[in-house]
Parts: sequence; C-alpha cells; structure tokens
Amino acid sequence: MLIGGGPLFTFGKEDIFLENGGVRVEGGLVKEVDSWTSLRKKFPQEEFFDTQGGVIIPGMTCAHHHFYSSFARGMSLKGKSPRNFGEILQDLWWSLDKKLTPEDIYFSALVALIDAIKCGTTSILDHHASPKSIKGSLRMIAQAVKKAGVRACLCYEVSDRDGPQAAKEGLEENADFLRETKIEDSDFLKATFGLHASFTLSQETLISARDMASALGAGFHIHVAEGEEDQEDSLRSYGKRVIERLRDSGILGEKTLAIHCIHVDQREIGILKDTKTMVVHNPSSNMNNAVGYAPVEEMISRGITCGLGTDGMSSDMFQELKTAFFLLKHQSRDPRKGWEEIQKIYFQNNPKIFAKFFPHPLGSLSPGSYADMVVLDYDPPTPLNRENFLGHLLFAIQSRNVRDVIVGGNFLMRDRQILTLDEGEVLKESRKLALKLWERF
Ligand SMILES: [Zn+2]
Repeated sequence: MLIGGGPLFTFGKEDIFLENGGVRVEGGLVKEVDSWTSLRKKFPQEEFFDTQGGVIIPGMTCAHHHFYSSFARGMSLKGKSPRNFGEILQDLWWSLDKKLTPEDIYFSALVALIDAIKCGTTSILDHHASPKSIKGSLRMIAQAVKKAGVRACLCYEVSDRDGPQAAKEGLEENADFLRETKIEDSDFLKATFGLHASFTLSQETLISARDMASALGAGFHIHVAEGEEDQEDSLRSYGKRVIERLRDSGILGEKTLAIHCIHVDQREIGILKDTKTMVVHNPSSNMNNAVGYAPVEEMISRGITCGLGTDGMSSDMFQELKTAFFLLKHQSRDPRKGWEEIQKIYFQNNPKIFAKFFPHPLGSLSPGSYADMVVLDYDPPTPLNRENFLGHLLFAIQSRNVRDVIVGGNFLMRDRQILTLDEGEVLKESRKLALKLWERF
C-alpha cells in the first residue's frame, strides 16, 4: 500500500523531509520513502491512500501511562483536598484502584485508547494497578489494546501497600503475562515487569521481583523519587537513597524504566548513568501533583536516556511536548532552552526506549520501521520545512489536527472517525461504570 500526497517528515536517523512525499507499506512495515509522484509511478497497480496535502508524521509515542486513571475524570473526593503527594495517593489513587472491577479495567483502558487514537498516540507503555482484581487484569487490558489496534507494553505495579497476598498476586500477574506475551510474540503487545515504587515495596518483594524478572529476561517499570516520601522512607528504612536501594536490589539496568526521578541527587544520577537505566519525564503530572521538577537537563547532558510520558494525565503527546518545552524554559529562566532538549527527550529518546520492547523501530518512518503514522490536517500559514517543523509543532500543531491514524499499515481512524471501536457505545458504557465506581468510592 502507498500512503502519501502531502508534506512528509520521517524523523529518525535519516530525518528526511519531502514536500510531497509518501511511503510504501508492506507487512506492516515501511518499505520505501520517496516523493509521491515517483512512488505512484513505480507502483501504478498498488492500492494507495492520498492524504491530499495532509502532513504525514510518525505516530506519537507515550513512555508512561496509566489507563486505569480514566474514570477519575470529574470525580469528587467528597470534601477531601489532599495537601501533599502522599495524601493524593491515599485519598485518590489508592482508593480508586481498589474499587476497579475487571469490567472497569477493560472500559477505562478503552477510554484511554480512544483518546490515544484521537491524539495520534500509537504506542504506549502502560503501568496498571487494581489490587482487588489483579489476576487476569493485564489480559483484560490486552484485549482492549488489541481491539483498539495500537501498540502497547503492559505491566502490573506490584506493591506491598495492600498486604502480602496482593503483592504475591502482582508478582505472578507480571510473570504470567510476560510468559504469555513471549509465546504470543505479537508486534502489537509486549510486557515488562511493573513495580509501584520503593516506598511501598518490602525488601522481600523486591528480591522476589528481581528473581522472577531475571528468569524471564525482563527489566522493570517503576516510579522513582516522585515525591520526597520515597527518599525519606528509603533513608529511614534502609539507610540509603532510593536509587542506591534499587541498584543494590538488582532492579536497575538497561531494560529498566525509572519513572519521574525528581528527588534524585548527583550520585543517584551517576548510578542511573552507570547502570544504563532509562528515565521517563512526565511534566504535566509533576506540575499537577506539585511534586517538583526533575533534573531533566542534567540527566540528558550526562547521556541518560530520558524520554517523555503523560503519567495517565492524558494520552495527548502534542500537549505533553508543549508542557515539557515551556516548563524547561520556565525552570531554567532561559528562553533559549527547550529546543535541543525536546529533540533529545522525545524524538531521540522515546524511540530508544520503545526499541527495548519492540523489535522494529518506532517513532520514525524509515525503511524497516513500523508503518505507524499520523496524518495532520494542517494548512500552515507560514512556510513549513524540516528546519522549522519543531516550531510548528510546539507553537501550533495540536491533537485536534490529527485526521487519520495508521498503525502497522491499518487505519485506526479516518477523517476523525475511529474505525476499530464504537466510540459512542464505549463512552456510554464507561459513563455508567464510572458512576457506579464513584458511588463505591
Ligand atoms: Zn505513573
């Protein structure tokens, strides 16, 4: 199949810009990138989709999400107003996750996936929690992911906060799902080993997780030093800082994702670098929880693979890119900042992170990469070229410009109509389920 007929940005190593470009897709992968005219000439018999001037870019990627947070939208905490991160967890997230039924898990995932498709987010790393419905929860989410047609890498966030039985079930859920996905060997669905955070994990659970994950060749997806509570607990209980504790427990490494890393010191940044641990920055969530600002510049300047995610705040990476960009400028009080850092965090590091889980490149449209792309309905009021694309992206292009979404050569959305799911039906059902959950809350 040929897809083209508008400005094409490939990103990736080749970073090609064609004013009227296209790609040839075969077996779910990009086979060839060329001008639209020459592709049509070379393959006159091939089925084609003409974007009619629509701008073609690779699908957006989100390196940290929580699908289960979907039903929190508009929910009242019944008079409570959490004063700090610890209270936000206690009063909101650790109350909500315990109320999730298997049906809630499935529909909250579908809601997040609908948002993702509408925002052009085609690949997601999700981190799930449902302490009263652990067994089979990742399979429920996987069903939603398959139905939606996006790519996702799933895990269950193991924690001791709900007692030893829930911790044990969490460990087993990760191990079972890792085994299943290995056998299934799908390019759309992958698994890693999830852990909540150091301050809710006993040493015994950490060691069990390390042994189980290492037997399965997996790394971890874990929140790290998001609030000061994490460091305080680690220093009080183990006499060392969070990153040191995780390193000493065998949790860090080149397949591990350390999410947030806000309250980390120089020595801990050094350990992240030495162990090749990856980091994910979530600026909207950090601002919303008022937990502080991650030393993003420092981490990327020291060569740490620090990528970008939404932490369940939304599925909109166009918005998260802008937030990361403005927050970086704001924090540094230097208006020159942001441009290079965003290039690195999103365009270089997110693809590097996804490459740890998926066998073909994501986030670029070079030959051999997944045929995951977004067509933007964007008629630029000023010249658009390779050199200034980031300016258009950060100051103009939004998820409302996403018109068509293609994953592995399959259309998930065309003219803003989702083809893989009945959006209206899903939202109708999710409103019913969310209301029931709010009543139980
Ligand atoms: Zn998170």
